[in-house]
Amino acid sequence: MRNRYAIALTILGTYFLASYFVLHAAIQQQRSMQRAISVSGQQRMYSQRISMFADAIFARPDSGLRHRAQQDLHASIRVFDEAHRALTLGDPIINPSGWPPPSVRDIYFKQPYEVDRQAHDYLSHARALDERARYQTISARDKDLAYLLDAGPGVFLQSLDAVVVAYNREQQDAAAKFELLQLGLLVLGLSTLAAIWFTILTPMAKEIAERTAAMERSASLDPLTNVLNRKAFAERAERLLKPAHNDASVGALLMIDIDRFKSINDTFGHGFGDQTIVRVAEIMRENTREHDLVARFGGDEFAIFVPGFDSDKAIRDFVERICTALGFESMHGIQTHRVSVSIGVARVECGVTDLRELLLAADKALYCAKRSGRARYAFAEESTIDDELNANAALSAAYGI
Ligand code: GH3
Ligand code: MG
Repeated sequence: MRNRYAIALTILGTYFLASYFVLHAAIQQQRSMQRAISVSGQQRMYSQRISMFADAIFARPDSGLRHRAQQDLHASIRVFDEAHRALTLGDPIINPSGWPPPSVRDIYFKQPYEVDRQAHDYLSHARALDERARYQTISARDKDLAYLLDAGPGVFLQSLDAVVVAYNREQQDAAAKFELLQLGLLVLGLSTLAAIWFTILTPMAKEIAERTAAMERSASLDPLTNVLNRKAFAERAERLLKPAHNDASVGALLMIDIDRFKSINDTFGHGFGDQTIVRVAEIMRENTREHDLVARFGGDEFAIFVPGFDSDKAIRDFVERICTALGFESMHGIQTHRVSVSIGVARVECGVTDLRELLLAADKALYCAKRSGRARYAFAEESTIDDELNANAALSAAYGI
């Protein structure tokens, strides 16, 4: 059972660990894509600034404004270049391994767009212009300026737009995959739980219930005879004596002790003594109903509690029957031994609830039966015993109840 428990925990642990890593990877991918969309938008914007500031350098004769435009062009080239490196090579947020995704890679490196080549061309023209603008004025016929003003708002812009669109599409696809993954994990998690529930937990719960019931059973039974032990007998008898169960009928509590049992042990051995005890218990069970209480108090001493007799005669007939049945011949090899018992009976009147008193009364009656010659029964109310007997009975009734 401990193994199955460990297996269930391992399966659940593996599932949660795997789920954690899968979700972590999916979230990382979403984060990369989000950043790529933002950086590609930035790159697109700075491509336009480069073209705009290049135009401003040429168009503004005022040296102050021209100087400003030059600085802006320089800064825009740097931002554009950084954005391009991040998008094509990856950065700490845009995961470098396997980057960029295939559909975007085609736009960067393959015809018709070849954005990477276009970006490098654009950058080299922008840098050349930036460099030259420091020492000389830029004329309208400047090749670099012409390139930047033509490609910037033209073909290059369209290509950069294609990149932004491709990243957006990638993110949509990734989000759809993420949702599918979430659903998959949910289904897998529920199926794992159901599988564990049906194949491991339910059988385990059943086994625990069975073991608990068996333990409870064995805790209330006498191990030699399988009838109730003294403690279980007392608990159940007290329950039956409670007012709810105590109807108008009468009951009987019998204390039964095997006669001269010591001599059975001494003559035939302890094993044969045990067999005799077992047989006595069997006979008691055979002569009682299922809800009657039969118990071994220890040694050769037994008790029977029978509720629900409709008359005193019925009690007497029952006691008579038990006493006769418990007088039997027992064979030991070729030797025969006659077993007999003495029985003390206490009537359980309606309204009597003290088990201890009933046990004392039955025990005194048993003592009388022994004293009167054994192999007989005696009723408590018919037994007369002197003070010494009273004292002895009280001692022997030390049942701890
Ligand atoms: P009495 O007629 O007065 O009852 O005489 P007795 O010999 O039966 O005396 P008592 O009831 O006091 O003796 C019970 C004996 O039962 C004492 C003990 O050695 C023996 N005994 C107690 N438990 C067991 C047991 O589990 N198995 C066996 N074989 N003997 C037991
Ligand atoms: Mg005895």
